[in-house]
Amino acid sequence: MDEDALESSSEEGSSLDEPSWVSWFCMLRNHEFFCEVDPAFVQDRFNLYGLKEIVGPLYGEAMTMILGYAPTEKQLADPSQRIHKVLESARILYGLIHARYILTAQGLSDMKVKFKAHEFGSCPRTLCEKQTVLPVGLSDFVSHNGNNPMKLFCPKCQELYEHNVPNGNYIDGAFFGTTFPHLYLQTFSELMPQARTTTYIPRVFGFKVHKGGGDEQQKNRTLEEWPKRPKNEPMSDWDS
Ligand SMILES: [Zn+2]
Repeated sequence: MDEDALESSSEEGSSLDEPSWVSWFCMLRNHEFFCEVDPAFVQDRFNLYGLKEIVGPLYGEAMTMILGYAPTEKQLADPSQRIHKVLESARILYGLIHARYILTAQGLSDMKVKFKAHEFGSCPRTLCEKQTVLPVGLSDFVSHNGNNPMKLFCPKCQELYEHNVPNGNYIDGAFFGTTFPHLYLQTFSELMPQARTTTYIPRVFGFKVHKGGGDEQQKNRTLEEWPKRPKNEPMSDWDS
């Protein structure tokens, strides 16, 4: 009886030790922004159009890797393993498939679960009161030299923020794309926060700080202070 119980628990343990590559990838540090793309979506050729040219010669191996199991500790520890060559291509391929997936009904729904669980973090602006942000890219083209890092978009203040995690993996903005947060908020309009109503007012000893010269109102006020010539005043001799 006890032996049976032990056997079944060890079987469960072995299945848990072998997660899919996609589950493993989404568990990596800084990868909490990614959702797990449905394998059926990855296998549909229609969804892969144009990606072969972008990913390059290791496209086939990268695809096999994505649809397979997670790499083992042993493979990861040995830099001579071929897996290390394929991983970079698999990362790009998965990221670009992911960018397409999160624009589908199922992908938007998957991201909604993550948004509601606050997995994307919150806006650093104090007056946004920990509004949950959304990942976004400034370009839909993957950068091979790290020039397109993922940004975070706050729906409340409508601003973009950097995402910096010490020792975190680099995430390309193209893996989320330029459209995602805006399509998301159109689709789930009930999640769109009310526009910001609170503005921070700088004060010195409790008094509001006078606005600077760049302010439009201040500029107009200054112009109005120039004395104007009364309408009936005769022209000066110099004008005649
Ligand atoms: Zn904000």
